[in-house]
Amino acid sequence: MNRVDYLRISLIDRCNFRCQYCMPEGTDLNYVLQQNLLSQNELLTLLRDVFIPVGFTRFRLTGGEPLIRPGVVDIVRAIASLPQTQDLSMTTNAFLLSGMAQDLYNAGLRRINISLDSLEPETFDKIIGQRGRSRWQQVWNGIQAAYEIGFSPLKLNVVVIPGVNDHEVLELAALSRDREWHIRFIEFMPIGNSELFDNKGWIDSETIRQQVKQRWGLTEAYVKGNGPADVFKIPGAKGTLGFISQMSECFCDRCNRMRLSADGWLRPCLLNEVGQLDLRTALRLGVSTVELRQQVSDLLMLKPEINYKQRDSGTTGTYDRTMSQIGG
Ligand code: SAM
Ligand code: SF4
Repeated sequence: MNRVDYLRISLIDRCNFRCQYCMPEGTDLNYVLQQNLLSQNELLTLLRDVFIPVGFTRFRLTGGEPLIRPGVVDIVRAIASLPQTQDLSMTTNAFLLSGMAQDLYNAGLRRINISLDSLEPETFDKIIGQRGRSRWQQVWNGIQAAYEIGFSPLKLNVVVIPGVNDHEVLELAALSRDREWHIRFIEFMPIGNSELFDNKGWIDSETIRQQVKQRWGLTEAYVKGNGPADVFKIPGAKGTLGFISQMSECFCDRCNRMRLSADGWLRPCLLNEVGQLDLRTALRLGVSTVELRQQVSDLLMLKPEINYKQRDSGTTGTYDRTMSQIGG
């Protein structure tokens, strides 16, 4: 079992996109009320006095869409300045990134993952639920801005959906050839929109890998923050290709992370709610950080058991929450 030292922090459960596979238009999401979001001070208290003392040193900011969280640059600066922070990264849809990338970099963010499911503006807009003026170009500008400013590694996340964007796999993979961009193909999970999942099905990483291999060949590779991805590269490419196979392969045994939701729930597993702790309520009720540290430490001891439980029940199924609510 891996050491658990990586915390994914959701800054907000809302989003400026409505991705078909995550929170499509019409989904009834009970958004967290403003007053129930963990405040910046509460988040910092939890990191400094609870998570870091029990061994967490690597943090990823996510959502919902983290760039719509008011004060996100200040939050980045505060976390980056904690002396124990060894790694700080963010996952974003990049719609607001071109105007914020420099401030985020100056605040101490160095690593970024951007969702980019299509190179075709029309397909892209269909996936993100956009009607009217296309949003693709602005996202592309955000990616370029992050690249030029020097974010590294810069990873592009692609969820491959049959009949929607699977025809673009090779074009997306080719983005890794001339630039140091790391493309990560993520298997579509029945989290969020299980109807779409039932209608379209999903494509396993191996199928995509074979497609790329037949076209260019593939060699094994490494990129910082590999996490659960199997990483390869097209021979001679500057960037890499990662395959995240949470549907076809169970990596519960390798899981090194926990998730903190925007309203302060700590979840040891993406796929079940066993052992979760409501840290925001506890903090507001005046429970001491010493006591919370003990509770998180106890949960860390329980995590292998929770992971095995998930592994033994299989990784497929449908889940009540969307990735935007859990903090994907
Ligand atoms: N809004 C940001 C973004 O899209 O990058 C961050 C949050 S989003 C929930 C984090 C990641 O979860 C994205 O890469 C997204 O593609 C992925 N995701 C959401 N729903 C998914 C699903 N049903 N299956 C696989 N990945 C999913
Ligand atoms: Fe928003 Fe990210 Fe979910 Fe798309 S995947 S709806 S961008 S949270």
